[in-house]
Amino acid sequence: MIKRRVSRIIRVGGIDIGGAGPVIVQSMTKTDTRDVKATVKQIRQLEACGCEIVRVAVPDLDASRSLVDIIKYAKIPVIADIHFDYRLALAAIDAGVDGLRLNPGNIEDPDKIAMIVRAAKNRRIPIRVGVNAGSLPRSSNKNSSIVKRMVKAAMAEIRLLESLEYDLIKVSVKAFDVPTTVEAYQAIARKVPYPLHLGITEAGLPKSGSIRSAVGLGILLFQGIGDTIRVSLTTADPCQEVECAYEILKSLKLREKGPVLISCPSCGRSETDIVKLAEDVEERLQGVEKAIKVAVMGCVVNGPGEAKDADVGIACGKGKGVIFRKGERIKTVNEPDLVETLMVEIGDMLS
Ligand code: SF4
Repeated sequence: MIKRRVSRIIRVGGIDIGGAGPVIVQSMTKTDTRDVKATVKQIRQLEACGCEIVRVAVPDLDASRSLVDIIKYAKIPVIADIHFDYRLALAAIDAGVDGLRLNPGNIEDPDKIAMIVRAAKNRRIPIRVGVNAGSLPRSSNKNSSIVKRMVKAAMAEIRLLESLEYDLIKVSVKAFDVPTTVEAYQAIARKVPYPLHLGITEAGLPKSGSIRSAVGLGILLFQGIGDTIRVSLTTADPCQEVECAYEILKSLKLREKGPVLISCPSCGRSETDIVKLAEDVEERLQGVEKAIKVAVMGCVVNGPGEAKDADVGIACGKGKGVIFRKGERIKTVNEPDLVETLMVEIGDMLS
């Protein structure tokens, strides 16, 4: 059982972040924010795949003007991602966003930050102090370690916000490098009571990026650190980020969402095409929303026992296989009927 760091609770739209509440899954649109139709369409896709908070880039004033319509159609909270120009933050707040992300490395003037904070305070919306290893403040001491520089940049911005009597703060200290990210989050978690948003920045293409994110976020989450997560992948489909995020959380038993598929790697004992069978089952499980553990095992000798943690499963022999529940065999079925019979069992269990 993971003992969570209990952070201060902030509210983003209708969602509480922090405390010992669930780790919230975020993503970011990949569309041009000025294109309202495309951005709303992508937010709809993200909502459907389980994204709970969406961030949109606001690179210019036209993008900030689009926010009004985007927010109107979005069902999940919308956070504006602001770099360089404080006026974009003010425009986003006026447009009705549910939160802001500011990078201390590229809005450095305390007076401009104070203007943003006053406007955010009036609307009671939170600000994420979002430090990235690749864009630290120019004043940052280059002789110091990257972790120290990241934490120092975050702390300077946090202290500035606190001096303005503002505490709706969330913090992130992201890097591409996993050990750097882990150390930076561990350090900031010891220093502040605020909720932390976790991410490995620019993690890469889906295969390597998912693994990198799982390692980095997994270490932190297992240590109880982290209140929201985003997996950053180079993909046109942000739902891949959301799916990966949930797999990480499900692996650590921090969230439940839909089925978990347990499938064996196959070996010389298997007398069936286990890869195809597992893929078929995975496809049939799409759309199942309730949490259930389903196993696809390559042999009857070891399969049911090795997958006794599963709620239901199939173990294949030559031309036929058994259906089992919690490791107990319940029926033998011819191979062509295995997947269909499994789905009937799943339907029974979930009804
Ligand atoms: Fe091999 Fe059977 Fe284990 Fe699959 S379940 S890896 S086929 S022993």
